[in-house]
Amino acid sequence: MGFVTDSLHKGVRHEKNSDATLPPICQVSAFGFQDMETLEDVFNGKAAGFAYTRIGNPTVAAFEQRISALEHGFGAVATSSGMAAISQALLNFLSTGDEIIASGGLYGGTIQLFTLFRQLGITVHYANDLSSSVLEKILTPNVKAVFAEVISNPALKITDLKSLADFCHSHSLPLLVDSTTATPFLVNPIDFGADIVIHSSSKYINGTSNSISGVIIDSGKFDWDFDRYPALKAYSKFKKMAYLMRLRKDSWASLGGCLSPFNAYMNIIGLETLGLRMERICNNAHKLALALSKIPGTNVNYPLLGIENDEQNSLCKTQLKGFGGGILTLRTGSREKTFKTINSLKLATVASNIGDVRTLVIAPAKTLYLHNTEEEMHAAGVYEDTIRVSVGIEDAEDLIEDFTQALKSAL
Ligand SMILES: *Cc1c(COP(=O)(O)O)cnc(C)c1O
Repeated sequence: MGFVTDSLHKGVRHEKNSDATLPPICQVSAFGFQDMETLEDVFNGKAAGFAYTRIGNPTVAAFEQRISALEHGFGAVATSSGMAAISQALLNFLSTGDEIIASGGLYGGTIQLFTLFRQLGITVHYANDLSSSVLEKILTPNVKAVFAEVISNPALKITDLKSLADFCHSHSLPLLVDSTTATPFLVNPIDFGADIVIHSSSKYINGTSNSISGVIIDSGKFDWDFDRYPALKAYSKFKKMAYLMRLRKDSWASLGGCLSPFNAYMNIIGLETLGLRMERICNNAHKLALALSKIPGTNVNYPLLGIENDEQNSLCKTQLKGFGGGILTLRTGSREKTFKTINSLKLATVASNIGDVRTLVIAPAKTLYLHNTEEEMHAAGVYEDTIRVSVGIEDAEDLIEDFTQALKSAL
């Protein structure tokens, strides 16, 4: 089936005895039972059912099943935010003294989280170049995982998933990827060897900026060595499912980052049009990037703009179905020109998020990167004159006209 067909039908379980086309919103904190025996059985996993929304909720489960199916996963756990997804995905198996390798130029919030990890005794090594020879040199016996963004935000660097997964697996390490900016429409990282896929579903999956949320999808394929990953040892009887079982039953439930049922419902609605929106957004982004790159004085970064068949360009073709994603960045030459351009735009909303149906713009330097060092900022491709554009579904001609007039008035 095609992606849009799948997003309407795959992982969808219609409620028994109900004709509802969408899952009911079970906006409750707890579930009542006829008798004590049944509640005890639910707690002990002897009967199916839901007891308390922090530990499970039917509307949230419906979202988890659908996103897991779309990502070719074995199972998923939804979280209160994308940051909750990243922190819980890693804390589910890391212990004090462990180290991880992460791609350079990560989302600012993730860099901030990794700084906090230092307090817990977890060290993060950054690698701007993810080739095996470079990673080989960084590797220590304490490195327990590799974390990368599929299309980095906002450096817009595309990770070669297959080659990175091969490196990881040759060293018995799991590969975790943040695929927020790619979405399952552009790529299923599990098919390229990734073991755990993470999304901030606050962005493209939700699609209209109405809810904060995240999700962790487990491929169920990684062969955990329980002596190397003692945090998962108590779940060793579940073998390759140990990661997901510990996440659901222990770390996610205890850290308390559950998703609101209402937000899960909003995400299900979003998922059903993800393919349509992404196709339009990516085509718009490509057209806008091409048009703006012709304006003298602007410097546009968009993965498909590279020289024909350069590495990034080829990765768009082999990994992202020929698309270059929905984000582009441009530089104007100065902070003043950047602010003037942004303030002259009529169609773009000045906002800090991405993945909306409307076009969003921001100067990320002293906003998104406020808490990062200059070095971290530059590694993420952010300078004081950078504008990040999260392209929406407006008509491409209108966007081109608006950005052209704004740039011409500022440059
Ligand atoms: C937004 C974002 C996050 C964080 O997600 P929240 O839902 O805001 O917590 C993580 N990674 C990437 C790439 C993002 O764009």
